[in-house]
Amino acid sequence: MRWTRMAGFVGLVLLAIHPARAQQTEGPAVIHAEVPACELARRARVSGLVLIRVTIDQQGKVTSTTFEHEQPFTKECSETAAEKWLFAPSDRAETREAHLSFIFTGETKGTDEASQALSTFDDPWTLRIAYRELEILQPRQLRQLPRENGEIPEKRCPVHDEVMAVEVVPVRYGLPMLYSEDDSPEEKRLQAAWDAYWKAHETLFPEVNRFIGGGCIVQEPKAEVYYCQSCREAERAWLEIHPDVDPNQ
Ligand SMILES: [Zn+2]
Repeated sequence: MRWTRMAGFVGLVLLAIHPARAQQTEGPAVIHAEVPACELARRARVSGLVLIRVTIDQQGKVTSTTFEHEQPFTKECSETAAEKWLFAPSDRAETREAHLSFIFTGETKGTDEASQALSTFDDPWTLRIAYRELEILQPRQLRQLPRENGEIPEKRCPVHDEVMAVEVVPVRYGLPMLYSEDDSPEEKRLQAAWDAYWKAHETLFPEVNRFIGGGCIVQEPKAEVYYCQSCREAERAWLEIHPDVDPNQ
């Protein structure tokens, strides 16, 4: 998984510059670390340590969680995340334990870059978590197209050469879909389906515009867009014979 690999690298760098650790944490080798998504804690800018003792079965799965240190608004999300951690399997049947530290730094990072890590590791069991900045101070309601003499200028579809219509559509904020590095046949098949969709989008129906992507800084909830009716019809026809993807979900 790309994120884990990158966070591990950042963690090594952090070890070099932060030799003093918040908490002695330890346990079996970590295969997958899930970062807690604590929306209420983000809004409240909670900072502090959450320490969780987990028991681990022979396959490396978490079977129980016990909080040894808590912070407000972090319990449910931390528990949900801790249950998804995966550890190295063991030859022996006895139950193993690990201590996981989630250090909520209270910092926020606003970023448009999906690649920028918001959480880093101090060690494999100690996660330092920053919040993604999603708010902007003065949200406007509508992102408008540029006007010329008070009018929205005419624009034609590059594929169909039709004059395009204008309508108001939702803006979708959030991270673009990350390509998984999971090599399962199902993942490959889905990835190929999306690649085919975007290729068709580019050449056959570039001006569908049922919604637009807005990055991860939330601004206006809606936007004026041009769209081409023939593009929308071409997209619908294409999706009928390629049911694996649905960009409008
Ligand atoms: Zn068109």
